[in-house]
Amino acid sequence: MNAEIIAVGSELLTPQRTDTNSLWLTARLNELGVEVTQKSILGDDRDRLAEAVRASLSRVPLVVLTGGLGPTEDDVTREAVAQALHRRLLFSREICDWIEARFTRLGRKMAEINKRQAFLVEGAERLENPNGTAPGQWLDLPGGMVLLLPGPPREMQPLFEKVCLPLLRERLPQLHIATRCYRVAGMGESDLDALIAPIYKLYSNPVTTILAAEGDVQIHLRARCESPAEAEALAGELGEKIREALGSRVYSTGGEPLEAVVGMLLQQRGATLSVAESCTAGLLGARITEVAGASNWFLGGFQVYGTPMKTRLLGLDEELVTRNGVVSEAVAVAMAESVRDRTGSTYALSITGEAGPESSTPGVDPGTVWIGIASPEGAQAKVFRFPNGRARVRNFAVQTALNLLRLQLRA
Ligand code: AMP
Ligand code: MG
Repeated sequence: MNAEIIAVGSELLTPQRTDTNSLWLTARLNELGVEVTQKSILGDDRDRLAEAVRASLSRVPLVVLTGGLGPTEDDVTREAVAQALHRRLLFSREICDWIEARFTRLGRKMAEINKRQAFLVEGAERLENPNGTAPGQWLDLPGGMVLLLPGPPREMQPLFEKVCLPLLRERLPQLHIATRCYRVAGMGESDLDALIAPIYKLYSNPVTTILAAEGDVQIHLRARCESPAEAEALAGELGEKIREALGSRVYSTGGEPLEAVVGMLLQQRGATLSVAESCTAGLLGARITEVAGASNWFLGGFQVYGTPMKTRLLGLDEELVTRNGVVSEAVAVAMAESVRDRTGSTYALSITGEAGPESSTPGVDPGTVWIGIASPEGAQAKVFRFPNGRARVRNFAVQTALNLLRLQLRA
């Protein structure tokens, strides 16, 4: 089944507020096997909202609205839905008493305007809101369902989970979902898509979603079937084909981040790691230590941003730095070798590059990064040209360094 979500509230059309409700609701609906085919954000305008509800109902059998159920004049979701369906709004004594009792319990007196929240669209069922005054509303129509939910997430979420989910489960065909998440490093989103699109395009079920960040691409598969076994089989079938096509570029099949995978590989070998960072100045160490228990395999590192620190802390030869330039193969190799020597770790990673946006190293373009790796077999370095943008370059460098080590550990 398909659904549409309408987030209501003029504040959601300002630069200050984001509609997060629809993300949360999409996840819950997906779990029920419902696909969200359109989301809209509308200001507090009754006519526009009524029009949007009518349009949504002409396309899908389930429309979920959040927001606009407050007590003030600007909250018009109830009125708009009534208008869209040509129904009346009916005052409910029961709801009014419930709201009044809630105020009394909190030692306050109900304001007159709160009575607006006691109106139900004709034919709607009241959904009790445990965390607020505005009840939700549920409308069963000949061709579909309309849900009116409060806007504040701390009211909307428990109401949806406790009250709406059981009702939806009763009404929706029983569908089971199986998911897969593969994470890929060392490959851009477009190259990855060119490789796997011919495979996943053959399947409308599972649905494939690709999410990309700096140096990290996630492939999400979601299969929906009548039985759990069928869903698992379908997700597994497409998943295996995608994995095969991507080979060692897939670093995780359970959603684990790259640093956790590297930690696991090091631990399996009883090996340790240290780092020497120039342009990332601690970012790599910070990523690594996001993994709980990293002290089992991570010894620490040197943050050597300026040249004097490279020579004094790591003991790099000044002559070598001047001759080759600070962003160079020789310096990256020397940094990795030195930090490995000084810490006694099995492996060492080094990063030296030009993060930009402007180059401060003559002859080196912004985005140029040398990554060194030292191991019992020796040391080497590779150069990368990352897309410009200071934060991007630094994130790419960290991700790429971790991936180089992963590939070496797998070899
Ligand atoms: P309302 O139901 O319109 O009175 O909403 C009250 C408050 O809930 C707003 O001021 C927002 O802070 C929050 N809210 C409303 N809609 C959303 C949404 N779609 N996502 C996140 N927060 C929301
Ligand atoms: Mg509002």
